[in-house]
Amino acid sequence: MLKYYEEPSKQIPIIQKVEVLVVGAGPAGFGAALTAARMGRKVLVIEQSGAVGGIATNGIMSHWTGHQDGGCFVELRERAKDCESPQVINPEKLKLVMLEMLYEAGAQVQLYTFFSDVIMEGNHVAGVITESKSGREAILCDIVIDSTGDGDVAAYAGVPFEKGRKEDSGMQPMTIMFKLGGVDMDRALFFWGFEDTVQLPEGDIQALARKKLPAPAGHVLLYPSSLPGTVTANMTNVIGVDGTDVRELNRADYECRKQINEIVKFLRKYVPGYEVCYVCDSANSIGVRETRRFAAEYQLHENDIAEARKFEDWVVTKSRFFFDLHNVLGPGLDSDGAYKAFKQENCYTIPLRCFLPQKVEGLLLNGRNISGTHKAHSSYRVMPICVNMGQAMGVVASLSIEEKTAPRALDIKEIQSVLRSQNVDL
Ligand SMILES: Cc1cc2nc3c(=O)[nH]c(=O)nc-3n(C[C@H](O)[C@H](O)[C@H](O)COP(=O)(O)OP(=O)(O)OC[C@H]3O[C@@H](n4cnc5c(N)ncnc54)[C@H](O)[C@@H]3O)c2cc1C
Repeated sequence: MLKYYEEPSKQIPIIQKVEVLVVGAGPAGFGAALTAARMGRKVLVIEQSGAVGGIATNGIMSHWTGHQDGGCFVELRERAKDCESPQVINPEKLKLVMLEMLYEAGAQVQLYTFFSDVIMEGNHVAGVITESKSGREAILCDIVIDSTGDGDVAAYAGVPFEKGRKEDSGMQPMTIMFKLGGVDMDRALFFWGFEDTVQLPEGDIQALARKKLPAPAGHVLLYPSSLPGTVTANMTNVIGVDGTDVRELNRADYECRKQINEIVKFLRKYVPGYEVCYVCDSANSIGVRETRRFAAEYQLHENDIAEARKFEDWVVTKSRFFFDLHNVLGPGLDSDGAYKAFKQENCYTIPLRCFLPQKVEGLLLNGRNISGTHKAHSSYRVMPICVNMGQAMGVVASLSIEEKTAPRALDIKEIQSVLRSQNVDL
């Protein structure tokens, strides 16, 4: 039985009142803060880590996946481009580009600040409580955009949520990304997907990885980076862990770190071009693919993506990515073959209703925590789509403040007209 400590109440300073408070500065939070600031709102974005960018930077991500046209994603991609291929990310360059764009737009950025609680007035989020080196502080606001990935704000505010797949709540595995230096790029092999393979003298490389690497690691994903002799590896793998539990996060982190050495030994021994490779960087934070998905006015369904649906109340457009369901029980892809079965060439849209949480006002969902099924989430969670989700929420928050109208009561045609003026259209 847990014992409890009763925390005495105390006065905490209200350090600011802003119009739009963005919690979390990942791809989704970036898009939201940038857009609301560009629309003239007083914006503050708080972020627990020491850099903006979320998984894109702190997760040392390799590339923007999927297809996303228009909006501030395209602007960010072009400005942060570091080599011939605009899809390849240099996380170090991206950190500064994102920060510069936010400051140029007039947003305030406060790093090293952890969201720890909501301030509620009835069912309305009126602000948040933060923890930092400056202690426990309060920030008041007109609207909060929850861009924490895990939906920490929405969870504390009492929005109902689901985790993982229907049958057993199993969530996608976690990964610590790492970079390898000393790779002979002229001879090196790259593997962009779980289905990419090659026949080595010792056998099929993906089968060999399953045999030789410590389970649940066991697949080979290697991407060229924009830096000479450097490759990004997406090969550590931990299953059965919940990213909203700090002790499970610690366990997963340790498990991934132990796998890195074994993976390097494997690559040196078997894979051409990697004979003298070494680890030159690893993500400071473990990459969490999936946690809470909240209840909103509409839950995006996998069929909406498979059929490339055009919703009347679209706010995100021109999105396309297959169902990237990593195996919940081991290495590689989910055995249901969703990836292979995905044939849709057309883009899908995401409706405003997926961002409007049930039961709570003054709050917008954003990024990988919006309302969708486990399978739909495996497509819309990719970073380009999340950046443009953020843009849409920046517009919605700004209009809501300007017109003193709750987001769910706004005229969708007006939202879409503003989005069109910002290069987001069907
Ligand atoms: C291992 C891995 C590989 C991936 N590979 C790709 C890929 O190749 N291409 C691609 O496009 N996508 C990829 N994805 C998916 C993509 O990175 C994420 O789904 C996407 O970053 C989600 O964006 P987000 O802004 O919603 O959340 P995040 O990127 O997770 O950002 C959330 C931010 O909120 C902050 N935060 C969280 N809680 C708090 C709190 N309580 N207080 C303050 N701040 C907080 C976090 O520090 C973080 O900066 C990958 C994901 C993982 C995990």
